Amino acid sequence: MRFPLSLTRSMTGYLIRQRLAGRKRFPLVLMLEPLHACNLRCTGCGRVREYADCVHQRLSVDECLDALDECGAPIVSICGGEPLIYPEIGPLVDAILAQRKHIYLCTNGLALREQLVRFRPSSRFAINVHLDGMEATHDAIVQREGVFAEAVQGIQAAKRAGFLVYTNTTVYRRTDLDEVAVLFEYLSQLGVDGFMLSPAFGYEVFGSRAASDAERIFLTRDEIHAKFRLARRRLARYRLCSSPVYMDLLCGERELPCAAWANPTYNVRGWKGPCYLVTDAHYATYRELLDATDWDAIGPGRDARCEHCLVHCGFEPAAVLAAPRRGADLLRMAFWQLG
Ligand code: SF4
Repeated sequence: MRFPLSLTRSMTGYLIRQRLAGRKRFPLVLMLEPLHACNLRCTGCGRVREYADCVHQRLSVDECLDALDECGAPIVSICGGEPLIYPEIGPLVDAILAQRKHIYLCTNGLALREQLVRFRPSSRFAINVHLDGMEATHDAIVQREGVFAEAVQGIQAAKRAGFLVYTNTTVYRRTDLDEVAVLFEYLSQLGVDGFMLSPAFGYEVFGSRAASDAERIFLTRDEIHAKFRLARRRLARYRLCSSPVYMDLLCGERELPCAAWANPTYNVRGWKGPCYLVTDAHYATYRELLDATDWDAIGPGRDARCEHCLVHCGFEPAAVLAAPRRGADLLRMAFWQLG
């Protein structure tokens, strides 16, 4: 199984309940950012720039749980910033698991070995380590030597202790998919449970300095399609965690509207709208985010900032929500999950 059975069961039950309640928009994954501070400063990351003036602020555990209570999403992706330097990460994870939610803890892996004692293995708790290539490539992207080696040691320690471990690889313009295949082969031997791939595209928060960076490292929409068509062939033998319908979107074989409302982001400023990447405003409640955003005005072809976007937070939920509408997609998703 690609994901634990408990996750499929919770998500299926949740989707049925939302449909029966007649809800048009509802959350699938809460992107929870308890802090924006990080122990790295990576090339592609906009968070430390966008939130420079509040980078030392943190949400309390109660604020995190209130946000989860309000939106009710069955999955929480704890990100940031680097969540392993959040002092209350252990109690936060325990409290979310006590609500029988599923957690993806997204980390750069630098503090993983040291912080592992704060968690207990569970089918509801997955550690998701960011790795963009083999040692030289990854360390260059995160701009510090030794990060790859430390993250790998963290992965090994986590697997030895019985944790579910996934990795997330961002695909940039220069990403060599043969190297990604080498990486996935290596990580498979370490027992990693699955691999996420995310396309990097340039969005506007970086300002002028990053505009030139964007030209060098981020992908246009056509480049995303070309890279992911190649990735689908080249990486087919590894346990990819991007759903088949989302891969169709990445490969340019079909289109779906962005569903950023399904993966809302909550951080020290509130509910970030319209999405994890683009910021127009922060709202006090998820309800306000839903009501105040003109969802028909965002997405490729509608908002210039979204032109090259196919990122996970907007389009994986679109794929998940679209699958039940076609029998063939539903079957593909079911076989993929069993694979
Ligand atoms: S397409 Fe959706 S996820 Fe992408 S930048 Fe626009 S609003 Fe955000």
